Amino acid sequence: MYKLLTPGPLTTTDTVKREMLVDHCTWDDDYKSITQNIRKELLELVHVTEDEYTVVLMQGSGTFGVESVVTSSVGSDDKILVCENGAYGSRMAELARRAGRNVVVYHEDYNKMPDADKVRDILAKDPAITHVGMIHSETTSGILNDIESVGKVVKAAGRTFIVDGMSSFAGVDIDVKGIGIDFIISSANKCVQGVPGFSFIICNRKELMKCQGKCNSLSLDLYDQWETMEKDGKWRFTSPTHVVLAFAKALEELKAEGGVTARAKRYRENNRILVERMRKMGIKTYIDDAHQGPIITTFFTPKVENYSFAEMYEYIKERGYAIYPGKVTDADTFRIGNIGEIYKDDINKVCDIIEEYFDKCHAGK
Ligand SMILES: *Cc1c(COP(=O)(O)O)cnc(C)c1O
Repeated sequence: MYKLLTPGPLTTTDTVKREMLVDHCTWDDDYKSITQNIRKELLELVHVTEDEYTVVLMQGSGTFGVESVVTSSVGSDDKILVCENGAYGSRMAELARRAGRNVVVYHEDYNKMPDADKVRDILAKDPAITHVGMIHSETTSGILNDIESVGKVVKAAGRTFIVDGMSSFAGVDIDVKGIGIDFIISSANKCVQGVPGFSFIICNRKELMKCQGKCNSLSLDLYDQWETMEKDGKWRFTSPTHVVLAFAKALEELKAEGGVTARAKRYRENNRILVERMRKMGIKTYIDDAHQGPIITTFFTPKVENYSFAEMYEYIKERGYAIYPGKVTDADTFRIGNIGEIYKDDINKVCDIIEEYFDKCHAGK
């Protein structure tokens, strides 16, 4: 048994896991009302109302949700600009390309944020662009991209704004309406602290209405999924019942913790302690403080004799925690996540273990 210091799936509470001991029927009113309640509460988490926004739950992991939005919203005559500064941005562009959509990529270095002025220029020069896609918390590096300033530019230019909020939703407060987000995607196993099995999308109703008939996939059709679900909470195809029950409980626990404000504070504090203690050990962060997000941190491989990531990983795992390898392409790094059912004590403990491991390295094993 170990706790996960990863970007998801995360360590969840026992009470969330226990919800999955029930085999629930899918067609009855109880179950449909659980789905409807989840949809309602997700809107509340991002401060929007049912008259302007609506929620679609989609089977599959987070990527299924992103693919559903992109292939349902971006039509074959449309064009999407993807702001890319990490693997998840590349993935969004790739899934759009595979679906035969027109795609243009604005690439930034992995340790820099997409810049609103550059987005403005690209949009001004290319009127064929109808949609802009962007990642909020780029989990590849841990950078928290500035969706506010880019959103402003996208809205001023009258384009549709798609945000992959996978690893930030419920871990960072997001003013969906104020920013002008038309679609934001997250999944059950990130900061709401449920288990993996479905993604969810907060949709601007007006934009969703334009999605009808555009998707060339049956199962990922966002509009069709919504149309069925909107009637009475019925999922179109078999839903991950156990995951849905666990998610309803996770939402309850999020409320009990004090909502997104309290959770965001806990994550930020976890992150602050982590970075501070790692720096004391001489380990540097890949992202500078001004752009570092509160979700996951990329650290440069330490210059410690006899160090090996594989060995450190095993050493930490044997002592109760799983960390994550690096994913940026231009440097040797590793990552430590601080979201999920993780507290200050866990962060301090894992830092103690890393310190011990370095001592062991210095001592020549
Ligand atoms: C986790 C994550 C995803 C989705 O990944 P899946 O493996 O499909 O769940 C997408 N974007 C970001 C930024 C993520 O952190």
